[in-house]
Amino acid sequence: VKVPKTVVFAFVLLLSTFLYPMAGPAAPKGKAALEAFGFKGVTLDGGRLRDQLDAVKKEYLAISDDDLLKGFRKRSGRPAPGADLGGWYGSDTFHVFGQIVGGLSRMFAATGDVACRDKVNRLIEEWGKCLAPDGYFYYSASPNARHYTFDKMVGGLLDAHLYCGNPNALGYLSRITDWAVANLSRERKYAYNDMTGNTEWYTLSENLYRAYLVTGDIKYRDFGAVWEYTDYWNVYARKGDIFSIPTKWYHAYSHVNAINGAAAAYLVSGEPHYLDTLVNAFDYLMARQTYATGGFGPKENLLKDLRALTESLTATTNHFETQCGSWAAFKLVKALVTITGDARYGDWAEALTYNGIGASIPMNPAGEVQYFSDYRLYGGAKINTSLPWSCCSGTRPEAVADYDDLVWFRDATNLYVNLYTPATVRWEREKSPVFVSQSGTLEDGRGIAFTVRTKTPSPFGIKFRVPGWLAGPMTVSVNGKEFPAGPDGRHWLPVERTWSDGDTVLLRIPLDLRAKRLDPGSAYPAAIMYGPVVMAGAISGRAPASRLDMNDLASQLERDPASPATFRLRADKGTALRPFYAFGPGEEYFMYIDPRMMDLERTAYSGPWAAGGDGRYCDQPGAAMECFFTGTGLLWTGSKFDDAGQAEVTIDGKTAAVVDQYDPVRETRFEWKIEGLEHGRHVLRIRILPDKNPASKGRFINIRWLVPIS
Ligand SMILES: [Zn+2]
Repeated sequence: VKVPKTVVFAFVLLLSTFLYPMAGPAAPKGKAALEAFGFKGVTLDGGRLRDQLDAVKKEYLAISDDDLLKGFRKRSGRPAPGADLGGWYGSDTFHVFGQIVGGLSRMFAATGDVACRDKVNRLIEEWGKCLAPDGYFYYSASPNARHYTFDKMVGGLLDAHLYCGNPNALGYLSRITDWAVANLSRERKYAYNDMTGNTEWYTLSENLYRAYLVTGDIKYRDFGAVWEYTDYWNVYARKGDIFSIPTKWYHAYSHVNAINGAAAAYLVSGEPHYLDTLVNAFDYLMARQTYATGGFGPKENLLKDLRALTESLTATTNHFETQCGSWAAFKLVKALVTITGDARYGDWAEALTYNGIGASIPMNPAGEVQYFSDYRLYGGAKINTSLPWSCCSGTRPEAVADYDDLVWFRDATNLYVNLYTPATVRWEREKSPVFVSQSGTLEDGRGIAFTVRTKTPSPFGIKFRVPGWLAGPMTVSVNGKEFPAGPDGRHWLPVERTWSDGDTVLLRIPLDLRAKRLDPGSAYPAAIMYGPVVMAGAISGRAPASRLDMNDLASQLERDPASPATFRLRADKGTALRPFYAFGPGEEYFMYIDPRMMDLERTAYSGPWAAGGDGRYCDQPGAAMECFFTGTGLLWTGSKFDDAGQAEVTIDGKTAAVVDQYDPVRETRFEWKIEGLEHGRHVLRIRILPDKNPASKGRFINIRWLVPIS
């Protein structure tokens, strides 16, 4: 018996309405000027970003389903074949299952590789069997960070629904949300004052509001409202200083990620203060928290001021939580570009595709990723964390898949080009689709070529992002002829005309070499940029590069004709600067330059000084360090501790001070300064004394940063 399709459809519709009373998508009250393509019709056509997307897809397709499911099955009393993945996965720490599901869903949408979709569907089916009757869904009976792990699962299920059409994802989403509504602690301890438990509850609004917009179910909207990070968001909305709140610290990644909750709140409510939060937070982060790479948050902290950010260059190897941080930034950029229609926000995403996650090395099969980027002044290297399946192994596939959704945007009459990378978009127009492709790379300086394919002549605008780093006016030629165009008020260069099949555009985007100061008020430290690309050199070239006049880089560097985007010092041809992204695992490089450190680099240590995340430290009386510096004074910074000792400081052989780094509270700021010396070269010596404060538990002396004062 053949049942007419309409009857089947009506029955299914009735059934699904009965099971999940869905109103359908909710209309956002917050207006957005532009729309993302949501991966639909967009492909990356080779190039660096596509290569990385393919590599990451391979990394994640290679993980065994049974291994990913093992704990869920064990916890629910089901047969659990496969191996324990170990690391954070095995110990149920910031568990990444939901993000892997989300990442694979997005990778299917970005590449059309059905292996990703099939894996998502298998994982959700098997994971769904492990749900407890009350909706408990975690990997084990004792997860940490229940809020954030729930958030990851909400995001993953939404992605599986949206990008893979998984038929069960929304049903499961409803069940785990019921569990969360009934069980998640609503203590909402403000994270900057308490990191002991219930961490990262403040990331929940974003995905719950997203669930409301997708399903129209007010359960998600109301639960999303519970987790609004009002105190923190409102500081931005008022253009205040987030450090005006009595605070211990701000965990960097999650406090950028949390701003995306305000973006979702804006779409749901249309309240302008949420939009103020977004815009002001972006400006604050750019001005006060980011390195030249676009990375932020040394040792996972937001910092009080640019001086602390400067000091971080010698204080740690952990400058940027690369995968998670890039993911948070990509989402914020997408929200800002679409809501405001302003291209200036796109620069941050571009920077991170070159110097952030886009410069990160491959994950290994043990689940070890490049958690941190290392920008140390004395030289750094890209290494994977030794923590398998860390948080960053969850955000990596999501963020890399999202390259695809950051390239093009649209409104009713215009196509917007946000990223310059080989890619094609199929844009549905009234009569028939229009295809626009771009090819070329910024770094070779030859421009980006676009081709339009359309069945019938089609009037629309193509608007190109005008980057903030531009070295001269962008110029456009259409079909080989100069096209008069200038930037609009929202940092786009519009080209509006009726397009015919085969029309071509050549967009010239001038790049130059320039210094990017970490603190605009100080000449150093500075990184060398080529357009959006942070340049770095092999560590052996640090000394000659430090003699460069940063105000006139073009005359001192010449392009290496043999390798793209490589520049050599005219004065020292053996020293080359290459894009930071081109450095491989373990290859030692320098990035930031500060010639004031040149004499200090000849520092001599005697005794068992250890190099730690906070510089150098030692607790043996008599141990010393000695170095030259040039100037009229010197600043020594470090930290005070409850087990710190005393040291004698001599300048040019004369005792200048006896300092005491003891403080009952660990890690308070230590600073010692001498000024008014005769201008010139001096010798500094710091020697650990046998005497100590009687209250101190030890004799440790630490040196984080030595800055000559001139
Ligand atoms: Zn992370």
